[in-house]
Amino acid sequence: MDRNTIQKILIGLFLVVCIFIGLRVSNFTGVIDNNSNTSLKTEISTNSSSSKMTYGRFLEYLELGWVKQVDLYDNSRNAMVLASSPELGNRPQSIRVEIPVGASQLIQKLKEYNIDFDAHPIPRKSLFLTIASNLLLPLIFIAGLIFFFQNSDNFSQNSGSSAMNLGKSPARFDQRPDTGISFDDIAGIDEAKSEFEEIVSFLKEPERYTLVGAKIPKGVLLVGPPGTGKTLLAKAIANEASVPFYSVAGSEFVEMFIGIGAARIRDLFKKASENTPCIVFIDEIDAVGRERGAGIGGGNDEREQTLNQLLTEMDGFKENKGVIVVGATNRVDILDAALLRPGRFDRQITVGLPDRLGRLGILKVHARNKPLDQDVSLVQLANRTPGFSGADLANLLNESAILATRYKKNTITKNEVNEAADRIIGGIAGSPMEDTKNKKLIAYHEVGHAIVGSLLENHDNVEKVTLIPRGGAKGLTWFAPEEDQTLVSRSELLARIITTLGGRVAEKVIFGDPEITTGASNDLQQVTNIARQMVTRYGMSSIGPIALEDNNNEQIFLGGENDAISDRIDNEVCKIVNYCEQVATKIILDNRVIIDLIVEKLLDAETLNGDDFCDLMKQYTIPPIKA
Ligand code: ADP
Ligand code: ZN
Repeated sequence: MDRNTIQKILIGLFLVVCIFIGLRVSNFTGVIDNNSNTSLKTEISTNSSSSKMTYGRFLEYLELGWVKQVDLYDNSRNAMVLASSPELGNRPQSIRVEIPVGASQLIQKLKEYNIDFDAHPIPRKSLFLTIASNLLLPLIFIAGLIFFFQNSDNFSQNSGSSAMNLGKSPARFDQRPDTGISFDDIAGIDEAKSEFEEIVSFLKEPERYTLVGAKIPKGVLLVGPPGTGKTLLAKAIANEASVPFYSVAGSEFVEMFIGIGAARIRDLFKKASENTPCIVFIDEIDAVGRERGAGIGGGNDEREQTLNQLLTEMDGFKENKGVIVVGATNRVDILDAALLRPGRFDRQITVGLPDRLGRLGILKVHARNKPLDQDVSLVQLANRTPGFSGADLANLLNESAILATRYKKNTITKNEVNEAADRIIGGIAGSPMEDTKNKKLIAYHEVGHAIVGSLLENHDNVEKVTLIPRGGAKGLTWFAPEEDQTLVSRSELLARIITTLGGRVAEKVIFGDPEITTGASNDLQQVTNIARQMVTRYGMSSIGPIALEDNNNEQIFLGGENDAISDRIDNEVCKIVNYCEQVATKIILDNRVIIDLIVEKLLDAETLNGDDFCDLMKQYTIPPIKA
């Protein structure tokens, strides 16, 4: 369906509704006119219980003497009858009766039965008034219709101001954007930044590019997880190029009614092409750009139309005309392939989570306007925060500043920064447990993790052990990763499993099998995951270097013997976990003395940081153990 059809259907529908309502109302006015008698109207409206009766039944009532009074209207065509009968509960009630045209002897009969009756004449009304009142409502509807046509004209052309505003693009527009963001405010995503710097230079001096025949992309798609700086980039180019900037979220094109999203897209591009050179930024473009026909229950006509319109618009304007569409999404996999074709979003820029240096850069950007104390080490903070996005890091420093204000400090110290980091990583801290047997068990569990981890050669150092509950955990042990690890060795994976098992193993060794708790369930899940991936994805078991599962943990079909393969996978996973449990048990048993000592300290202090922990460990010299 094209937009004209839709428009016709809409108008058609409107017409039908108007005619229907018009008929109903003029009918209604007719009734009032015919009956126009105030007393009847009040009678009908005041006596809400007033019911109707057939003429035949009325005659029966008459014969039985149940009728008390009759009022005649409209030249004796209608009557209001006051009657009381056993079936009416012997209470007088008004009943309306339509009188057939031929029933001329009615008045005769009423006289015969000696019924009190009255005939009400039709009030004289001027012919003009009658005609006017009959014409008034239809006229109003015709006027409404004309109004609608004019609007729908706007609706299709999107020109001028439309009273309905439906087809207007909700995009926010800045003629000379001062977003306050420059490229200096963005760190850690250098590739995307340099790409955009090029686009800015095109917008500023297009001749330089067109002279040598270079084509600047029409569409740039920023792909990456939330909070990595995609919006920030778009704002920065608008600011640096100081060209008009339109920004809108994809979801603002998703509408109930077919054609409205498409009309908004049309409107947006129309405005943009009148203001070249300019940038159109569409955030969450997946809301409109989702693969067509992929929704639940087939397709979604409205969304598909909107997407088609977007495709058409992007095809419609020529390269080097100065409209650059920047889309942002974290779900490039669900985008319709047509969007990614040459001439549309032909340039894709991945904006990933920042690495260690990237995080350091971002922290520096956000630390600029904050009074950080000498003791705060941004390098250490960057080390501690793998997996953090730019937004998380900004939030971390902001939280620290809030904490500093709370503690009435003039500068932000290491304390506040660490507390903010703990909060963001582990959740809000709860109050420490009462001194119970459980608390002791948790202390052993955590120290179990910490000791095992710090004694293994291939494991990160302890950052903190605490008995203060956070999030869902009753206690926590943090390790500080030295580097972002993109490649992880087999022995490092084993070390992770052994350390993660350390908590449960400590419970078991110290308190005995009957006392172990459910608290380790998370640990066990992690252990199983790592071990399973070692077998099925990394080829790190005796099955050999075969990928047995894909990224979605779906088994890859290996021709007929999948059951046998499943058994072998399970076997290998068990072998790995059993081996790791043995290593963990040995470490716990060999270090029982120092474990007891550290647990005692931990129960007392509730939190031990990495340095405290190291000092305690150093009192005993044990060579590292290889996994
Ligand atoms: P996205 O659009 O990718 O979801 P935003 O650009 O809205 O993320 O980022 C949200 C906030 O996080 C920004 O306002 C900024 O404070 C911070 N931020 C994110 N990425 C970066 C970065 N690379 N450099 C500096 N700050 C960043
Ligand atoms: Zn644990």
